[in-house]
Parts: sequence; C-alpha cells; structure tokens
Amino acid sequence: MLVDNFNRTHNYLRISLTDNCNLRCFYCMPEEDYAFAPHAQLMQVEEIQEIAETFVALGVNKIRLTGGEPLVRKDAAKIITGLSRLPVELTMTTNGVRLHEFAAVINDANIRSVNISLDTLNKEKFQLVTRRNNFDRVWQNIQLMLDMGVHVKINVVAMAGLNETEINDFIAWTKDTPVHVRFIEFMPFTGNKWTSNKVVSWQQILAQVETEYSYLPLKGSANDTAKKYIVPGHKGTFAIISTMTSPFCGTCNRMRLTADGKMKNCLFSKEETDLLSALRSGQFIAPLIRQSIAAKAAELGGQFGKILDQVHPEDILNRSMISIGG
Ligand code: SAM
Ligand code: SF4
Repeated sequence: MLVDNFNRTHNYLRISLTDNCNLRCFYCMPEEDYAFAPHAQLMQVEEIQEIAETFVALGVNKIRLTGGEPLVRKDAAKIITGLSRLPVELTMTTNGVRLHEFAAVINDANIRSVNISLDTLNKEKFQLVTRRNNFDRVWQNIQLMLDMGVHVKINVVAMAGLNETEINDFIAWTKDTPVHVRFIEFMPFTGNKWTSNKVVSWQQILAQVETEYSYLPLKGSANDTAKKYIVPGHKGTFAIISTMTSPFCGTCNRMRLTADGKMKNCLFSKEETDLLSALRSGQFIAPLIRQSIAAKAAELGGQFGKILDQVHPEDILNRSMISIGG
C-alpha cells in the first residue's frame, strides 16, 4: 500500500500516453510553439505495462489513461488491451474526437466509463476553444458511447467570458440524456494565462443553476473530487470540481505518470520522479514510487492556497497541463 505522511492511501494512477493532441484548447496548451516529445522519449508499450504492474503490486486498483489526447497514440489500442488484463478499473479521459475508432477496443477492454471533454454546446465556440472543427464528431461519439452502455462524464472547464452563460444549457441536456456533466474550476498551469477573475467558482456555478432549477446533492464516495448534484426528474447528473476554491486534497488518492515516464505525486507538484530512466537502467522502481509518495505535500503541491487573489501563476513551478496529463 502507498500511504503518505497524511495517512492518505494512494490506489489511483493516471497515466498520460502522450503530450500530443489533435485539438489545441487554449487553456491547456501554451500558445507559443509547443514541441511535442519525440516518440523515443515516451514510455513504450512494454514499459507502460511494466510500470503499471509495479503500481498494481503496490495497491493501485484504478488506472485512468489521459494525455494530451490518449487516442492519438498509434499504439493506443495495444496499450489499452495490455492494461485491461490487470486487476484494475480501467478508464480514460479523452476529447472524444477518435472514440469511434476505438469502440471495439473499449468494449473488449471492458472500459465501462469514459470522461469526454466538451466545454461548449455551441459549434462555433468549440472551434474558438479548440482551434479545430470537430464538434459534430465529438457529439456523435458521445452518443455512440451512450448507445454502447458506457457511463459518460462530460468535463466542462468553466471560464468567465467563455461558457458561464451555458451552464444551464448543460443542465438542460441532462434532462433526457444520461450524461454526467462535471464543471471544472479553471486551474493555473505554465503558459495558460490563468487569472483569478477567469475562474467561475463552485458557488457561482450553483447560483447560476439556481436561477432555473432546483437540485439535490448526491451522496459521494470517499475519494470523490466532484461535488455531485441531480435535478429531480433528470436522467443525468451534474457535479462541480472545485479544485481552486474548495480543494479536496484531504482525501486525495491520486498519482500521475507523465508520458515521458515521470511520476508526479500531485497535479501541482514541482518535483518529479523519473521512473522511466530508472526502469531503462535496470533499477527497481518500487522504492522510488514509495519515496515520491512519502514526499507528497498536504495540499495543492505545496505551491499555493485557496485564496484566489493570492495565487500568482508565475510563481507556480509546473508543466503545462497538456504535458502533465489531466
Ligand atoms: N485530451 C483529453 C481531454 O481533453 O479530455 C485528456 C487530457 S486533458 C489535459 C484532461 C482534462 O483536463 C480535460 O477535461 C481538460 O478540459 C482539463 N483541463 C485542461 N486544462 C485545464 C485547466 N487549466 N483547468 C481545468 N481543467 C483543465
Ligand atoms: Fe488536447 Fe485535451 Fe488539452 Fe484540449 S484539453 S488541448 S483536447 S489535451
């Protein structure tokens, strides 16, 4: 078991398969020319499998694939199939653009839940956010996953001046469609021009919902990052991930592995542990994983607090979101 100094057991690993992506979301990818990591620098299929097996031996029972966009990797199917043989709940976070090409793989790997990112229900705005014209494809693929009986969570990064006027459109969508919309407070990462006034807070989101709907809180489970709600009578639900205004670090069970094989004990940690180089030089990586967990900070990577006005993104040492793996 991987237990840190705050008595938190870590059983959930998020693996980034690549820092490459077929979309260009402005809040995720730095605007200046971003150089994707060359393939040789990334964990190869067998290396991902071996590192994942080590984590499983240490108590991991849930793995989420992410990126960048996990499904742009040419060997993504092979990776998914390999990991599906481990005794874990396997899930992924994707922008949804290529999901139709992976329907059989998802089915065979028994992936029962996917998170699909969609920040707007408006086709033109989608192009503005992602700098690509894939709204229809993503929309169809959400339907495809629902038709396959997959549990679909929709990730919406709520940003002032971008989509806060659409909050109730997303709630309306949950009336007849069993999607689980999760509004995420906008977070600061290297190069994403975060400012505190762009954050739409948990309270602001609820206030917006209250203008049209009444809702009930849903009971969560121990390590939930999202505060969950339902509008009575709706087939879907909604939730808020309040990382910035009400972080959930006290029950954190998550660890991250970047596509180039660096372990991060927190999304906001500045320290990284190079598991891939260690593996390639024949070292045992389990002790390194334990050391990383032992050094985990109590909250937000030890880099900032929850008073938004006091968060200075230029002082936070981290990667861009696309190269961490969200
Ligand atoms: N490409 C996949 C996707 O878009 O779902 C997976 C990777 S993406 C980095 C994972 C999640 O992080 C997405 O839901 C994305 O919206 C979210 N994200 C990216 N940058 C963010 C930020 N600055 N604040 C909050 N969420 C962010
Ligand atoms: Fe790509 Fe996902 Fe980042 Fe958008 S949020 S640029 S889809 S990795």
